[in-house]
Amino acid sequence: MSDTIFGKIIRKEISADIVYEDDLCLAFNDISPQAPTHILIIPKKAIPRLSEATPDDHALLGHLLIKAKEVAQQAGLSNGYRVVINNGQDGGQTVDHLHLHILGGRSLQWPPG
Ligand code: 5GP
Repeated sequence: MSDTIFGKIIRKEISADIVYEDDLCLAFNDISPQAPTHILIIPKKAIPRLSEATPDDHALLGHLLIKAKEVAQQAGLSNGYRVVINNGQDGGQTVDHLHLHILGGRSLQWPPG
């Protein structure tokens, strides 16, 4: 399991505001929300970033997307939302454990910065 801050959250070594958990993934509120709703979904498997996922992760990646839409629904984002994966330095990734951002609760601009 990864030794990032997210690995510590998965192992419950540090607390997080968890909104969903199953055998494969965990969803929790972002500590620094960029929208009224800002939830992170992470796999329990330590994949550092999307570009390091392999064909073996096919089902897991699908699971994360399905859970993203369920968590968004559970959060009441009926007017729409955005799912973001930052990958690597130019992608603005700061935590080296794959995560999906679910952002909603306000109208989001495009393109992002
Ligand atoms: P990234 O920039 O890597 O795509 O996103 C990392 C996200 O993790 C950021 O939005 C940041 O606010 C969030 N984050 C970093 N540390 C923690 C933490 O300890 N707890 C929670 N809940 N979120 C965190």
